Amino acid sequence: MYPKMIIDLKKLKQNLDAVATITKDEGNCSVMIVTKGLCADLNMVELIAKHPKVDFIADSRIVNIKTYCDMARKNNKKTVLLRVPMHCEVEEVVRYVDLSLNSEISTIRLLNEEAKKVGMKHNILLMIDLGDLREGMFFKDEDMIFDAVKEILKMKNINLQGVGVNLTCYGAIIPKNDNLSLLVDFANRIEDKFDIKLDIVSGGNSSSIYLIGKGELPKGINNLRLGEAFLLGNDTAYENQIPGTTSSTLTLQAQIVELKEKPSLPIGEVGVDAFGQKPYYEDKGLMKRAIIAIGKQDTDLDSMTPLDSDIDIMGGSSDHIILDVTNCKKEYKVGDIVEFKLGYGGMLKNVTSKYIEREYIR
Ligand SMILES: *Cc1c(COP(=O)(O)O)cnc(C)c1O
Repeated sequence: MYPKMIIDLKKLKQNLDAVATITKDEGNCSVMIVTKGLCADLNMVELIAKHPKVDFIADSRIVNIKTYCDMARKNNKKTVLLRVPMHCEVEEVVRYVDLSLNSEISTIRLLNEEAKKVGMKHNILLMIDLGDLREGMFFKDEDMIFDAVKEILKMKNINLQGVGVNLTCYGAIIPKNDNLSLLVDFANRIEDKFDIKLDIVSGGNSSSIYLIGKGELPKGINNLRLGEAFLLGNDTAYENQIPGTTSSTLTLQAQIVELKEKPSLPIGEVGVDAFGQKPYYEDKGLMKRAIIAIGKQDTDLDSMTPLDSDIDIMGGSSDHIILDVTNCKKEYKVGDIVEFKLGYGGMLKNVTSKYIEREYIR
């Protein structure tokens, strides 16, 4: 059945080998592989769980982690919750997660209470915001950071395993030697001030891996958390392909349900489209228009590229996408399959849609 997403597990393995080798062998970092981009697809998780160079399997959603917690632990990988926990999920975090990223002392207190209740120690990383302005204690609020550490160290059922930063997500700030050095500096000052040792200094996500190749990852950063680098081979700092990886791990297939010659300009008074937007049309005269049976409910039109480069995506609504096939060398007909390469946004919507089948290449 279509629409269908083809997940090439061989290519994912190739990417995993490449990014794990760079991160571990060249960067001297422990490796967290992030599963949220494919909604923790279990065939993918199995690859990760069996990989000798992976240390942690991470996701931002506890629902995903619950599905693979056993598989991860059986293979000696630790599970990591990336999004700072909700108060309402503290119980599940302590149960299914070996290490959580945190930035709120009220939440850490709840984690401590819950861990105490079940008689265990919960590991956390304290997130520090170096300017991207998503999660983390703001680096200029030093008193807040040191006060938090002081309180955390008094908690009997919390282990402060380290510190971390996230960049290039909201503010699109690129990790560099100078901003990541601030994180190392915080780690050193925390260690000196409280006479402790931090195991982990987590220097960011796929946008940090390029620093290893340039020899600019600051000494002291000893962990990276990689999602897109693994899934699509992207260095997300400068949109380069990471050496040894491929970007064609995923292919979306959709079927043509209508193919007709029609004008390029709609006829009648123009109002707003299905999504409340006022559309703009260019008059290209008569054109060959194909409708494929997939829509904005299932995918992101801006994050999918037709493999046939003569196809133009014109637009779409919830359940339809309209393609301009006028200039194609191939004679498309109703029932034909059109293939697309996916970007991060397209991949995310595709795997989240229950209307898209999955097929695996092994
Ligand atoms: C999603 C996420 C990652 C992985 O990001 P990529 O850009 O896909 O590597 C890492 N850390 C945190 C906190 C995240 O939320």
